[in-house]
Amino acid sequence: MNRFTFVDCTTVAEALDHLKQGSVAKAGGIDLLDLMKDGIVSPSMLVNIRRVKELHGIETSEQGLSLGPLTTLSELAAHPVIQKTYTALSDAASHAATPQIRNMATVGGNLMQRQRCWYFRSSEYNCLRKGGSECFAQKGENQYHAIMGNEICAMVHPSSTAVPLMAFGAQVELTSKKGKRTVPLNEFYIRPDESLLDETVVKSDELITRILVPAPAAGTRSAYQKYGEKESFDWPLADAGVVLVMDGNTCRSASIVMGVAAPTPLHAKAAEVVLAGKTIDEATARAAGKAAVDSATPLEQNGYKVQLFHTVVYRTILLASGQLKRDPSAVGGMA
Ligand SMILES: Cc1cc2nc3c(=O)[nH]c(=O)nc-3n(C[C@H](O)[C@H](O)[C@H](O)COP(=O)(O)OP(=O)(O)OC[C@H]3O[C@@H](n4cnc5c(N)ncnc54)[C@H](O)[C@@H]3O)c2cc1C
Repeated sequence: MNRFTFVDCTTVAEALDHLKQGSVAKAGGIDLLDLMKDGIVSPSMLVNIRRVKELHGIETSEQGLSLGPLTTLSELAAHPVIQKTYTALSDAASHAATPQIRNMATVGGNLMQRQRCWYFRSSEYNCLRKGGSECFAQKGENQYHAIMGNEICAMVHPSSTAVPLMAFGAQVELTSKKGKRTVPLNEFYIRPDESLLDETVVKSDELITRILVPAPAAGTRSAYQKYGEKESFDWPLADAGVVLVMDGNTCRSASIVMGVAAPTPLHAKAAEVVLAGKTIDEATARAAGKAAVDSATPLEQNGYKVQLFHTVVYRTILLASGQLKRDPSAVGGMA
């Protein structure tokens, strides 16, 4: 690990004074310190924002939810309004990582964690994302990699909270010394065909200062599920967040997002079209699951993820609509 300066801040203004090229914000430190220990990032300064009071806290109102980016995943999971009204978000937060990590990991850091790919995270491979000329996953070990949008780089974005937040239409408030701007989470992540060196729109002098989730329309029901190799201590192999606006058993509109399918979280637009205006039952849910993966382009070793996504999407639709109890084979999920 490189030598670096550590600055402890107590206000946003103080943190922004230190954020410039070469320095980086540290929240829980879970992903950042792993990347530093592995020699993937080498900041000259860590700007510790953990003690900045204004970046903590969950506010609920008629307009929706306003989350401080330092809200931990445990706090998200345990909040009664989030459990009731934004169920998919509490589902995602409560099944990520491990209880110990959830106590440290913040929602801002969770959205900003770097992609998962063992070639990217190994200092021995100078892949496209590090300025190299090759995506080693294309012809290498690619069983955990992307099944969509994978032509240039096959990393997957692993944030579990991004999946329901995007499905709920969340926005991210970014603050720099020049002022504030608000970006829909839909436009927050940058695809490899747009840039290989930037993964989000956040600039080096900006902080996430709030995550805003609009109040769901009347009749909204939601769910999130994650399938993986392990019950705990691991990222998903496939996950889905589903937000349905229901009128009785008829779906007025659906918002479905898949995580770890592509280098960025992905709206399953074809699946949303299948559900709109339909009665939700096993057949429509399965048809939507199939539509979600129709455009998949699996690599040599990850064809199994196509079926996994079909299944996680249709079962999460049934769970959201109240027709299925939590799938016992989903991570963390006995019925
Ligand atoms: C074994 C294991 C299993 C895991 N499983 C899962 C899982 O299932 N699902 C999942 O989603 N995650 C999982 N994780 C990842 C973990 O949840 C993330 O590493 C964690 O949420 C990152 O949050 P943090 O607060 O520690 O961020 P940090 O490590 O402090 O920061 C991460 C990045 O975010 C930036 N950042 C942080 N806060 C701000 C801010 N306010 N404004 C601008 N930039 C900011 C930092 O500069 C850094 O680049 C797992 C991790 C481990 C070790």
